Order: sequence, then structure tokens, then C-alpha cells
Amino acid sequence: MQGVRGEAAFQMLGRANELERQGRSIVHLEIGEPDFDTPEPIIRSGMEWLQKGATHYSPVPGIWDLRVAIAQHLSSHHPQKVEPKNVIVTPGAKMMIFSILQSTLDPGDEVICPDPSYPAYEAAIRMAAAKPVPVKLEESKEFRFDLNELARQITPRTKMIVINSPQNPTGGVLTLDDLKKVADLARKHDLLILSDEIYSEIYYAERPASILDVPNILDRVCFVNGFSKIYAMTGWRLGYGVVPEDMFPTVDLFVNNSVSSTATFTQRAALQAFTPETEKATLQMVAEFRKRRDVFADGLNSIPGIHCLKPLGAFYLFPNISGVGLTSDEFANRLLSEAGVAALPGTAFGEYGEGYLRLSFANSLANIQSALDRIRKFVSTL
Ligand code: PMP
Repeated sequence: MQGVRGEAAFQMLGRANELERQGRSIVHLEIGEPDFDTPEPIIRSGMEWLQKGATHYSPVPGIWDLRVAIAQHLSSHHPQKVEPKNVIVTPGAKMMIFSILQSTLDPGDEVICPDPSYPAYEAAIRMAAAKPVPVKLEESKEFRFDLNELARQITPRTKMIVINSPQNPTGGVLTLDDLKKVADLARKHDLLILSDEIYSEIYYAERPASILDVPNILDRVCFVNGFSKIYAMTGWRLGYGVVPEDMFPTVDLFVNNSVSSTATFTQRAALQAFTPETEKATLQMVAEFRKRRDVFADGLNSIPGIHCLKPLGAFYLFPNISGVGLTSDEFANRLLSEAGVAALPGTAFGEYGEGYLRLSFANSLANIQSALDRIRKFVSTL
């Protein structure tokens, strides 16, 4: 454990809360979670299932009805058919990522990861005594890979490529062509793909391509998704994966020996996620995110030294602050202590995050406006 870092978002939240206790006003843009409530049908159903006694152990890979509903949901959106027997439910998508990586990696294996990226990949890879191999996401390509560079990083020790689209922290989205090329590389070099698509339903242009849209690849894909983001259910702890048949028993064994299974009433309640009423609530949420994204990105782009692409998905801005003359760490630390805005340095997501900041726009327009005023004032004092 001495070789891994924790998620910086939780550390920054701790520091910001401490300042608030001292009476400071803080705008929180550090944590990656929707500020909306879980849609009403899910809450109602959760309370009902508690009363109906859904309080006992669930089977290790999740209750069958939910695995069926997840498989149907995915199969209805993508050409590749997902079978319920390949679906496994865990307490959060992070646990799914961890379970897959612990189940597949041997010491010394190499895993190609986007950089910057969600830090849980690197931590889980290191905890398996394997080696993360970063491949830079290029701002000039709207934070997609240079696929030639990705191919150059493949060695005989490479076991897996991790992809995440729409992406945390950049909001970048891989094209279907990118995904096909990653799939070709995986086939050619006999690699697995971990595709984390937890932001798949939070997008601002056309629906993002999924690895489930690529033919003849599912036998080497571990697909990850969950309820935390699109259904505003971060605290319910509910994620899932789709894993190939030959890997399923190993991942199941890992879940068995770690968390045993996922809470039962939360799984029952999650069945309400795939209803028209809930879908309506999620569409409203995404429409709100879009307004906030536009106001926030336009505002940042009017501040000298800051340049911000409009993300195509997820709910983070990843502005380039290299023109301001501070490192990412200095900028984030001073922004918190001098201006009361909690943001994350790009380096919390990998070394190629230097020169950037991550700002969540899962916050009210009033708070975003206040953050913009504070950032503008802070930059003008430098
Ligand atoms: N993947 C990505 C890319 C994320 O950003 C997050 C949450 N920040 C997760 C997985 C984990 O989600 P969960 O809360 O379901 O564990």
C-alpha cells in the first residue's frame, strides 16, 4: 500500500471541509458526483424493498433479475448482444475495476492506461504488483489517444489496455474508429481490454461509441459501467461489469472472497433505473449539465492565460492553465487557500495532467458563476 496514492478528490474534500469549519466560504468543484437527488422511482422502490425484507445476502454476482435487466439495457443500445450470465454486480464501479484487475494481472504484467485518467486504475494495477504504462491523451485531439503512440507502448509483458470514454478527467470521447483500432491491437497482440463506460449516458454531442459496438471483440473485453453517475446514486454503491465467459469464474471468486456480494435492496431498487420515468429524469439532468458546461467553459475562456475545450461527455472541465505561470499543484492549492475554490490539479490524474486543472460542473449555475468570479479575481492577482 506504500506504493499507491489515494484519490485526490477525497483528500481535497477533506481540506476544503476543514477550511469551511474555520468559517471560510468554499465552492466545491473537486468531487465527481451529480448534485441531483437519485430519481424518485428508485428511492421509492428502495424503501419498499427494505420493508419487504430485501435485507439478506444476495448471490455473489448479483440478483438474477438485475443481471437480466442490465443485459437487456445494454443489448438494446448496442449491436453486440450481452448475456445475463456474463453480468456481475459489485458495490460501485470502482470495485468492479478492482475485481477485474486483481483477477487478471500477474506481478510484472504491463497495463496500458490513458494519462491523465481516473486514478483507481493505476492504484489497482500497482496493488496487483503489475505496472501501469501511461499513454498521453492529446489536447490537440480533443483528449483522444495518438494510436500509433499507444501501439508503440505494447511489449511482450503487456496484458491489457484500459480505455475510458467519455473520460474522467478530460471529458474526451473515443470515436468508433479509435475503438476499432484498439480492438485490432488487442487481437493482434492477444490483449484484454478494460472499457470503463460509466459516463456513457452523459454526453453533449452524438451518443458516444462503445466497445459493445465493435464486432468480434467481446471475448477479450471487460466492460465496466454503473449507476453512480447517470442515476445520481454514488452513495448507493452500485456498479457492474460484463466479462468474458472464461474469466467469469475468476472474477466471481474474487468478489466472493472480498465483498461476498452487493446489498440486496439497492439492487432491487436499481431495476427502476431502466424505466421511462427514470430516463426522463436523467435526460433533464444531462440538459442541466450541458447549460452549466457552456457557461463555465465560456467563462473560463474569457480569463487570460486559461484555455478550455468543451468536453463531449462526463461532467468535468479540464482547462489548460499553463499560460498562467503556476504549476497545476500550485494553482489548485492557492486557488483553495486564497480564493476558496476546491479544484483538483491535473497531476492528480497522471504526469501528463501537468498544466491542467479538473473542475466538476456537477454544481449549481450560481456556484459556477461564483467560482468563475473567484478564479478571475485570483488569476488577476498573479
Ligand atoms: N470510473 C470512473 C471513470 C469514475 O470517474 C468513477 C467515479 N469517480 C468510477 C469509475 C467509480 O464509480 P463508483 O462510484 O460507481 O465506484
